Amino acid sequence: EEEKIRVFCRIRPVNRSEATQGGAVVVAKLDDYSVTVETQRGPREFQFDKVFSTEASQELMQSVIDGYNVCIFAYGQTGSGKTFTMVGDKDQKNPGIMPRSFNGIFDIMRENGSKFDFKVSAYMLELYNDSLQDLFVSQAGEVHAQTQPHGPTRRVEIKRNRKGVVFAQGAETKEASSAQELYALFQQACANRHISATMNVESSRSHLIVGIMVESRNLTNGSVNTGKLSLVDLAGSERAAKTGAKDHQLKEANSINKSLSALGDVISALSAELPHVPYRNSKLYATRVKAITNNAQRNVDSKEIAQLKEVIMKLKSGQAVEEVD
Ligand code: ADP
Ligand code: MG
Repeated sequence: EEEKIRVFCRIRPVNRSEATQGGAVVVAKLDDYSVTVETQRGPREFQFDKVFSTEASQELMQSVIDGYNVCIFAYGQTGSGKTFTMVGDKDQKNPGIMPRSFNGIFDIMRENGSKFDFKVSAYMLELYNDSLQDLFVSQAGEVHAQTQPHGPTRRVEIKRNRKGVVFAQGAETKEASSAQELYALFQQACANRHISATMNVESSRSHLIVGIMVESRNLTNGSVNTGKLSLVDLAGSERAAKTGAKDHQLKEANSINKSLSALGDVISALSAELPHVPYRNSKLYATRVKAITNNAQRNVDSKEIAQLKEVIMKLKSGQAVEEVD
């Protein structure tokens, strides 16, 4: 049986400037499922669902993509290879998971074109300083648009509809009729990202979130299904102190750390099967549906019932309520 969450490790090769400075790979030992890293306090072993060595090609995760309601994200320090893995290199000689999955989706559609009618649409967002930006809305010259309440960006919020489907409210979705069209949208979105050069690598201090919805209508019986693929290139996981960041950069780093540690809390809670999974602590994840299924599967505890009662009371008396798990 396949795990709901799978964690992969990819080791990138030492680059030229690291090699010039005498840098070496810190991995002392690895096999398909574990990596041992040399640390100042001695060797430490980490377990994964799969380990990709420095030899792994960009086709490494093709198998991860097949299946629709899927979220793939890359986590790691700046320079560890997240964008390379998710997006690819600059000239796209080695495209990453995002452009590859665009092709993959349309390939699958072509193979099933006689039985289904497909509609593909996408939204592309950036989570920067705790606010979601729509990358289909141009912010040219508006580097700090989020600090201007009446800036050019519309407010995007993560919401859940009555069917439990999570969506980005206010986000523009665009249809694409080919992988090329989807890729063109993606390039347009990337051009709208905030880029700030911290450390010695040109790095994005924001999370890039790509959502692709595939609606398929069965030509025989007319039934409609919607699947979603979420692809996320996270901001660097390094601590604020290490980056030597100042002022607005510090604000960036703080909100990145906050959202990443919130993500860590979610993953820990899921893997420890804790009764409460703190999905609500960051806008980073649009996967609150799982919180509901998880809670439904377990016996909802009395605290949660009490919370629910409180919410119902508030709603009845017409008071505003914050959304709850
Ligand atoms: P991040 O997005 O985590 O900050 P990048 O993806 O930008 O890191 O990677 C940093 C540098 O290392 C880039 O120049 C990238 O092309 C290179 N790189 C990353 N992963 C690999 C890899 N597996 N093989 C070769 N080069 C890589
Ligand atoms: Mg990057």
